[in-house]
Amino acid sequence: MRKSTFTIITAALSTLAAFSGCSNKGQSGQTAFSPGAISAHVRFLADDLLEGRFTGTRGYDLAAAYVATQFESYGLEPGGDDGTYYQQVPFRSAVRVAGAQSLLLINGGKTTKLVELQDFVLRTPDRVHTKSNVTAEVVFAGFGISEPVINHEDYANIDARGKIVAMFDRAPDAFVPNELAYYASTSYKVQTAVAHGAVGVLFLRTPAEEERVPWQRLTANQERPAMAWRDEAGGLHPGWPEIQGLVRLNRSGAEALFQNSKVPFTDAVTAAEAGKPQSFDLGITVRMSSRSRHHEFSSPNVVAVLPGSDPVLKDEYIVYTAHLDHVGTGDPVNGDPVYNGAHDNAVGTAMMLEVARNFASAETRPGRSIIFLALTGEERGLLGSDYFAQNPTVPRDNIVANLNLDMFLLLFPMTEVVAFGAEHSSLGAVAERAAAQVGLKLTPDPMPEETIFVRSDQYSFVRQGVPSLYVDTGLNTDAAGFDGPTLIREWLKNSYHKPSDEYDPAMHFESGARAAHFNFLIGMEVANTKARPTWNEGDFFLEKFGQ
Ligand SMILES: [Zn+2]
Repeated sequence: MRKSTFTIITAALSTLAAFSGCSNKGQSGQTAFSPGAISAHVRFLADDLLEGRFTGTRGYDLAAAYVATQFESYGLEPGGDDGTYYQQVPFRSAVRVAGAQSLLLINGGKTTKLVELQDFVLRTPDRVHTKSNVTAEVVFAGFGISEPVINHEDYANIDARGKIVAMFDRAPDAFVPNELAYYASTSYKVQTAVAHGAVGVLFLRTPAEEERVPWQRLTANQERPAMAWRDEAGGLHPGWPEIQGLVRLNRSGAEALFQNSKVPFTDAVTAAEAGKPQSFDLGITVRMSSRSRHHEFSSPNVVAVLPGSDPVLKDEYIVYTAHLDHVGTGDPVNGDPVYNGAHDNAVGTAMMLEVARNFASAETRPGRSIIFLALTGEERGLLGSDYFAQNPTVPRDNIVANLNLDMFLLLFPMTEVVAFGAEHSSLGAVAERAAAQVGLKLTPDPMPEETIFVRSDQYSFVRQGVPSLYVDTGLNTDAAGFDGPTLIREWLKNSYHKPSDEYDPAMHFESGARAAHFNFLIGMEVANTKARPTWNEGDFFLEKFGQ
C-alpha cells in the first residue's frame, strides 16, 4: 500500500517535470537527480566505520576524502588551499576536566554548594582559559537583552561591571521570529554581557524551556569537546577572554541563586513569560571555578568550484553548503555508541553532491561560478562555515548567495518544501518559481519558535551580509498514510543527535532527489540573473549585518 501509493506520486511528479520543460533529464530519460546516488552517499557517510564524523577525527577525515574525490570525479575544480579541495580550519578544542567544576553561593555567612550535573552544568568548557576562577556578586538581567531600538532593556537597574550576570535562555515569545532567533543566540547574550562588563554568565530556564529541552540532554556527553577556530593573531572565534564561566542552572540551582532576592524566582519567571524587561541585584555572591584541557589541530572544509560561463558574472559565486561533521561517538543508547548522523547531515551532503554532479554535467554552464562546500565544525557551533565566511577562498564581496542543506528529513514522500529565510530576501521569489517547476508546494516556516534560520550554517553567511536560504522538507505531506508532523516530532524526540539517526533503506530518497533538484533550480536561476540577490528593504538581518 505504502509503496504503491508512493510510486504513483513519484511517477505523476516526473511526468509533471517533463512537461514543465526543465532540464532535469539525463541521457537515459530518467531524472538526473538520482535517489540511488543519494542513498549510496548516505550509506557510506553514515556507516559505523566513520564513527559519527566528529570534527578532527579520522572518521571525519575519511568523510572529507570521500567528498573531495566525488567532487574530483565530477570534474569540479579544487577550491581550497594551495590547489587542493581542502580549506584547513585551525581549531582549538576544550574538554572539561571531570570533577574540577565547582559553584558556591555565598549569602553573608551562609555558603551553598551546588552539585555539578544536578544543579548546574557548564554551558561550554572554557576555550580561552585552562583554569578559570571567579568570585563576584550576581546581578539578574531578564533575558540579557539590551536593545533601545526595540525598547527592551534588561540592564536598566544594574551595574554589571565585574559581576556575574544571571539571565534566562531564549527571548520573549512575543518577539517576531527573526528577532527572537537573533536575541536568543548565545553569542548575542554573551557579547552583550561582556559589553556591560560582566565576568561570567549564569543561564536560567523557564518552565517552557525545561519542557522544550530536557535537563538530561544538557548533561549527557560531557566528555565531548567544545571548539573555536583560531585566527592568525591567536584570537578565538568564539572567544570571550573576559568571561570566567558560562554555566547553566537547573531549577534547583536557580531557586538557590534567588534565595536572598527581593523578587522570588517564580515572579522573575512570570515577568519573563510576559516578555517584560527586568533587572535587579540578587544580593548573593558566586564563586565558580572550572578546568579544561586544550588541544590544537586543524580539520578541513571541502571546497570545489564550477567556473561560471559568463565573462562578467563568473567572478561572482553562489555557495552551496552542507555540513559534513556530526557528533561522533558518545554515551551508548541501547548498546550503540555510534552517533551516525544519517539525516544530520549525511543526507544534506548527499543532496549537495547530487546538485554538484548535475551542475558539472549540465549542458549549459551557469553564468556565475558555483562553490560546493562541505563543512566541518557545524555541530560545534557553525565553526567551519563561520571560518569560510570570514576567510573565503574567493573575494568575500563576490559571494552573492548561500544555499544550505541540513538535516533534510526523508521520513515520508515530500510534497511540501520550506526555504528558511525566504521572507528576508529576493531569494524567496526564486524559491517560489523553483518549487512550482518541480511540483512542490513552498510553505512558510512551520516552526518559527525553533529559530531554525539561525541554527545552521547559512547563518554564518547571513552574518557577513550574504542573502541565504536553508532548504528543508515541509511539515505536511499530501501522500496518503503519512502523518508528517507526527513523524517529524517523533524523529526529533527519538533520533535527533542520537545513535538511531542511522542509514535505513526505507528512507525516502526520492524526496531527497526532488529537493536536490529544487535546490539546483534556485542556484541556476541566481547564477543566470544579472542582478545579485538582495535583502528585502528594511529587513532585520539587513539592518543587523548588511554591508
Ligand atoms: Zn546536528
